[in-house]
Amino acid sequence: MLDTNGTWESDMKIAFIGLGNMGGGMAANLVKAGHKVRAFDLSEEALARAKEAGCETFSSVREAVEGAEAVVSMLPNGAIVKDVYTKDVIGHTPHAATLIDCSTIDVATAREVADAAHAEGYKMVDAPVSGGIAAANAGTLTFMVGGEIHAFDAAKPVLEAMGKAVIHAGAVGNGQAAKICNNMLLAIHMAGTCEAFKMAEKLGLDPQTFYDISSVSSGQNWSMTSYCPVPGVGPQAPSDNDYQGGFATALMLKDLRLAMEAAENADAAVPMGSRAAALYEDFTGAGNGGLDFSALIKTY
Ligand code: NAD
Repeated sequence: MLDTNGTWESDMKIAFIGLGNMGGGMAANLVKAGHKVRAFDLSEEALARAKEAGCETFSSVREAVEGAEAVVSMLPNGAIVKDVYTKDVIGHTPHAATLIDCSTIDVATAREVADAAHAEGYKMVDAPVSGGIAAANAGTLTFMVGGEIHAFDAAKPVLEAMGKAVIHAGAVGNGQAAKICNNMLLAIHMAGTCEAFKMAEKLGLDPQTFYDISSVSSGQNWSMTSYCPVPGVGPQAPSDNDYQGGFATALMLKDLRLAMEAAENADAAVPMGSRAAALYEDFTGAGNGGLDFSALIKTY
């Protein structure tokens, strides 16, 4: 929100629900931007970290949302988001507040929760993120935002304190739609990149030579040139650190499951996406959920 001097208002009362790996850093960045953050999490440990970062902590969602001008949530899944909003946020937060769910959840639940909020007169957006824990801590996330334009405009200054880009994706649920379509495409080109590097090797090509050729040819893609699954090839990536850090395979699988559910509901054909989902399902099932998703190359 712009104040009367045309500068960003930076002393809002913001309730923050879900202070885990992502939410902890995001809430800390809201504090750094000058906001009063009213934090709640089920975990005492997460609450203690939030307190250390300058948040005021509370022992329930209802207490945290008292007097809030905005509510931000960063929770594990759609069932929890629905539960938290319908039981403790909607009807318990001042009606002028903007509700902002940044969790990655299914499109249908995002729309259902926003409908319940709209019915009570709230502005609500879904604003899932691209970028992992490092980007959450550094305040360099990208937010993909679904919601009416007046809700987007109200959420934007809050999101800008936590990210480098805030993009309006259209109606409610479209932020989640953008997130899962993007990550489905990422899984597909990562699997394709792993496949091509391994086949090139079997055909007698040196991986660096294949990289030098393909990275300036029509096979070029982000998984190859920014996140190469082959150690020692391309810029520094999790493959250079034994596939530690980065974007965990288990989280990629979560997003692929959401993508498959959305594809079924929308009657969209996803032959490549479903193959990628099956590959990540098997790889996670074999105990690799904690490795970066580029470790899929180990299976070829
Ligand atoms: P996390 O498990 O570290 O954090 C979730 C937090 O929510 C935990 O602290 C948990 O105690 C809390 N919580 C659970 N139920 C609650 C409730 N009813 N009330 C209050 N707090 C509750 O997970 P995370 O890695 O921070 O991910 C959060 C969301 O961000 C997920 O939807 C995830 O898909 C998405 N995401 C994560 C990453 C990543 O790299 N970790 C990247 C992009 C998006």
